[in-house]
This record gives sequence, C-alpha cells and structure tokens, in this order.
Amino acid sequence: MRITLILPRVGIYRYKTGAFLKYLRYSPLTLVSLASMIPEELHATVEIYDEGVEGVPKASIQADLVGITAITGASRRAYAYADYFRNRGIPVVMGGVHATLMPEEAALHADSVVTGPAYETWPRLLKDFKAGTLKKFYHAPDKIDFKHVPDIDRTILQKKNFISVNITQAVFGCPNSCDFCVTPIACQGYHHRPVADVVREIGGMKGKYVTFVDPSPIEKVSYALELYRAMIPLGKRWLGLATTRLLDHPELMDVMHESGCKGLLIGFESLSQQSVSGIKKGFNRTKDYLRLARELHDRGIAINGCFVHGLDGDGPDCFKRTLDFVLEAGIDLPRFTVCTPFPGTDFFNKMEKSDRILSRDWSLYDAQHVVFKPVGMTVQQLEEGHRWIWDKAYTVASITKRLTRSMTFLEYAILANIGYRYYAKALPRFHNNAVSKDGEI
Ligand code: SF4
Repeated sequence: MRITLILPRVGIYRYKTGAFLKYLRYSPLTLVSLASMIPEELHATVEIYDEGVEGVPKASIQADLVGITAITGASRRAYAYADYFRNRGIPVVMGGVHATLMPEEAALHADSVVTGPAYETWPRLLKDFKAGTLKKFYHAPDKIDFKHVPDIDRTILQKKNFISVNITQAVFGCPNSCDFCVTPIACQGYHHRPVADVVREIGGMKGKYVTFVDPSPIEKVSYALELYRAMIPLGKRWLGLATTRLLDHPELMDVMHESGCKGLLIGFESLSQQSVSGIKKGFNRTKDYLRLARELHDRGIAINGCFVHGLDGDGPDCFKRTLDFVLEAGIDLPRFTVCTPFPGTDFFNKMEKSDRILSRDWSLYDAQHVVFKPVGMTVQQLEEGHRWIWDKAYTVASITKRLTRSMTFLEYAILANIGYRYYAKALPRFHNNAVSKDGEI
C-alpha cells in the first residue's frame, strides 16, 4: 500500500514566500506521528509533504490513499487537494483540527474523516481500508490509550528546514474552556502521557534542546511536578507552554527551572480584566502579569507572550496598553493575534447568532485577519491597530528595550526577534485577497 500524507500550507506561515523564517519554525508532529503509526503488517510505503517547507508535486504523486490534515486556515487548500486526488480516483482521508471542528463539511471532500486524536483510529482505519471496509467517520475514543502513541521516526523530516526537530508532547488537551480556543474541542479531554514514556523519548533525542507543544501542561500540577523532576537528570534545555496560573505555584517554577526550562509561551491575551473574563479566561489576573514576568525572568525563563485584540471588552486603546506592558515587562517575544471565532466553537455560534460574522472564507481564519465585527472599535481600527502593534513592538528600539529588561536566553531570543521583526514587516503583503487566493491549488 502506498500512502501519501499532506499538511497543506497556511499562506502566511509558509517557508520562503511566507512570513516565517526558519528561526521560528519547529517541525510539526502530525505527519511524522501518522507515518510512525502505520501498522507494520500493512507493509506500506509512506511519503510526507509539509507544505510549510516544501512543494507538493501533486501530478506525480502515485498513491493508494492520501491523508490530509489541516487547521482551519489551511482547510480550503486541504479541500482543493482532496478534490484533486479524488478526481484522479485516489481515496482521501481528512483529519486534524478543522476536520474535528467541522466533520460534516470535511466529509463533503473526503472518503473518510478522522476526528480528535488519531492514535487509535488511524491504524484501525488503515486496516479497514486494506480490508475494503473503510467507514465514513472515525471518532476518537474518550480516553487516549498511550500504548498507541508511537516512537516517532524523525529521520523522514527534512531537518534543514527547521530550527528543531526535537518536538514532543506529554499532555494533550486542556481542562479549561476559554471561549475562543479550539484545543478543548480538538483534543477532546485532558490526557497525560506516562512520565516514563516522555522521559525515555526525550532521553533518546540528539542535541540539547527539546520543545514541548502541549497546549496546557501545568493545570494538573502534580503531573507537571513529576514530569519536570524526572527530566532533571537528562540535562536538557526545553521550551514549552504554561498558563498564568504558574504564578500560584512557585515550587513548580523552581522545578521547571531546574529541569532546564528556558522559555514558555504564555497566553496573557489582554490587559483588560473585563476582556479576559469575557472569554472565560478570568483566571488570568491582569494585575499580576508584571509579577509573573519578573518571577520567570528571575529563573532564567524567557517569555513568548501571546496577546489577542478585538475582544468585546477592547476599545481602540487596547493596542497601546499592550505595547506599554510588553515593553515594561520585557516580554522576550510578544506575539499578537486578532480575535478569531473558529467555526465549530461556541464563540463562532455566538457571533453567528448576533450576525457578527463578516467572512466564511476559512483561509482568512489565521488569527491575523478580521473576520467578525468587533463591538468596541471598527473593523478598520482593529486591522490598523493590529498592524501598528506588530510594527511598534518590533522596532530596533523596542526589541532592545525588551531584551535589556529581560536579559534571558538571549542566544535564542535575539534570533527569534529578528524572525518576528521580519514577520511584522511582511504582514501587509498578506492582505485578504492574497490570503484568500492561497486557498486554491
Ligand atoms: S487555557 Fe489555553 S489551551 Fe486551555 S482553553 Fe484556555 S486558551 Fe485554550
């Protein structure tokens, strides 16, 4: 059996003509995980195409089955590939975040749709395909059985395209339910991989650095403590994510530092308590943000701070408030998004009911384009404010000010800031028409 796996690009993130330089690009886990989960008894050959870093030679692909995985911003392009291969008589399976959010829509373009984590369903689907009993839908079971999580073969990646291929995941999903977030739906529950499995995998990785892509790893503090303590003897350095709840757990911050944590992505989202509470993320205490930044920097942990604008509590002053904060706190690598109601979420349904959805072109759902009517400002103010803050946070003076305040993990922070400065300058190229056109193949 010949299997081809494709990760279609989101225009703004593609390598070379996109806005993301290699310094910011780590290898996604999905394709290599899917490839590593193919049952041996099928004697399949597999080729993978990550369109973020390479082209898809669609006309020369000869496969018995094509698997396509996509986030919402790439879903139109994913459907275009699916339609193309099905027109050639090649069956197509679709999975990933968007197919999980919108399974019925994905089913219009695919012979089979996989929803949720595919550890159990993907191998079963392949066996069904071989037996000629492929079903239309494969839904993930409620719990992930971690014996299905494979040892990943990273040798099939084009390593030169990424700053790191040492990517792993210990915790899947999130117990919170922030209004705008797809993680609770896409991962369906909150699942913890056995610590021993994670440590064995990391211990076998070449090189010093490891990146965790777990969206929400510290909400079960006992697990996080166990994992990070077990990592101390490995002597690795690692990057990961956490919520602002970290501030309530100084011991956890200490253990993270001891285990080699050098950087965390933190979803601050907004400087307005009303705005964060409005998206069911009221556990973010805006008055404590500066203290959290200080606590992390004191432990040598850099901050990739994420901020979203256009929330219902946001007026035109929100951009300046965010900028003032990132400069004062010395946020090492700030990242800005436009509030986006992803289809399939309650937030989208709420916006739809109040007639606030402006576009259903999923290509524009990349969190950098305005697709709904904000209440506290006009669409134009949101678009202009979004570009303004990217620009102002990545001037040479701002970068210098932020990094001088932080003085943390500079060997990476400087490179990453150059990467985001390039990104900020490239953003105007990705106007609505250009991004929309990228939905075609
Ligand atoms: S805490 Fe983070 S991952 Fe969890 S629902 Fe909220 S935004 Fe999503």
